[in-house]
Amino acid sequence: MESPMHIHEDPSIINGKTHLRCLSLFELENWVETLGEPRYRSRQLASWLYEKLAGDFAEMTDLPLGFRETLRDRALLSSFRQVSAQTSKIDGTKKYLFELHDGNCIESVLMRHEARITFCVSSQVGCPLDCRFCQTSKGRFRRNLTAGEILDEICWLKKERGEGMEKANIGFMGMGEPLLNYRSVVAAIRVLNTAPGFELGSKRITLSTSGLPRRMKNLADEGLKCSLALSLNATTDAKRRELMPAVSRYTIAEVVDAARYYAEKSGRRVTLEYVLLRGENSSAEDARRLGKIARRGAFKINLIPYNPAREGGFEAQSEGELQAFIRELLPYSPTLTVRRSKGPDIFAACGQLWTESLTPQKKPAEGT
Ligand code: SAH
Repeated sequence: MESPMHIHEDPSIINGKTHLRCLSLFELENWVETLGEPRYRSRQLASWLYEKLAGDFAEMTDLPLGFRETLRDRALLSSFRQVSAQTSKIDGTKKYLFELHDGNCIESVLMRHEARITFCVSSQVGCPLDCRFCQTSKGRFRRNLTAGEILDEICWLKKERGEGMEKANIGFMGMGEPLLNYRSVVAAIRVLNTAPGFELGSKRITLSTSGLPRRMKNLADEGLKCSLALSLNATTDAKRRELMPAVSRYTIAEVVDAARYYAEKSGRRVTLEYVLLRGENSSAEDARRLGKIARRGAFKINLIPYNPAREGGFEAQSEGELQAFIRELLPYSPTLTVRRSKGPDIFAACGQLWTESLTPQKKPAEGT
């Protein structure tokens, strides 16, 4: 008898039903055909999935009744439910906790910056990395998300917003390391690049990685429309090893080289993300070294003030310290943005709702 270890379940099938957002647009065509329907039905279906965001097969009134019934028996539109949501009274940032079909939870954040909005999505339940400053690392890694679950998050946020994707960006900056869930993340981005209702270009999608050089290069070779951000977070290998031990087998030179490769291949500048931790990586010397690294690769820099977790063990800089860091950095690297912390009153750093949800006494949802 085969041991259960060898049984590979198809993660796109849940309780015998196909989770439609797990299929590429091409697979959707084939799947529709196996049900005896013409291939063009898949375009109608994709429009309901990604453009009109149907909540039920009954809404799909341009599909024949018999096909809708087959879909109800054989397919799933979405595989999760909202557990809670919190809205920041300060800036309208909204943070959601979702429960997946197997009881695992993930979180996503909807951030507003003036006219623009960013969907910050998770790619894994928990994270196998152990970046010291990151809240997600405080809970145990559970599993990768499927492409369908990632697209469920995005479709949910799109529906919540209710205005289509005008001035909306998607950031793989929630829970997890997207390049450790390579296949599903790439499949989801392909759908975002092409599905009706999305058709997003590279300016609109950003994948943020802790820096896995081989996979960054593979991603560059995929030819996706997607921008890359590298979480550098230190300017010496010794400090990076302390702050991000799980990725410390790669030197800064190696990850920066992979980022440069991505920039060359994609024709887009890569962003270096830098979480500022007082007394750790925020000296004047760090600023100068960071500027030199950025200059060598023509990188953009995104400074991220540390978002203090409840028991973080790190401190954020004062506004004056941040300004001093920027003054040192600017002569080397004028392409600089500062990510202002969003939703400070609801602890919007990803991972915090999730780790709270793991404690036995679940707190009731605040806000809406
Ligand atoms: N694993 C990926 C994506 C998730 S983290 C990555 O490492 O890039 C997304 C971004 O949030 C990263 O730049 C990370 O360094 C930053 N980050 C994590 N915890 C933070 C915190 N407490 N405050 C501010 N930024 C944080």
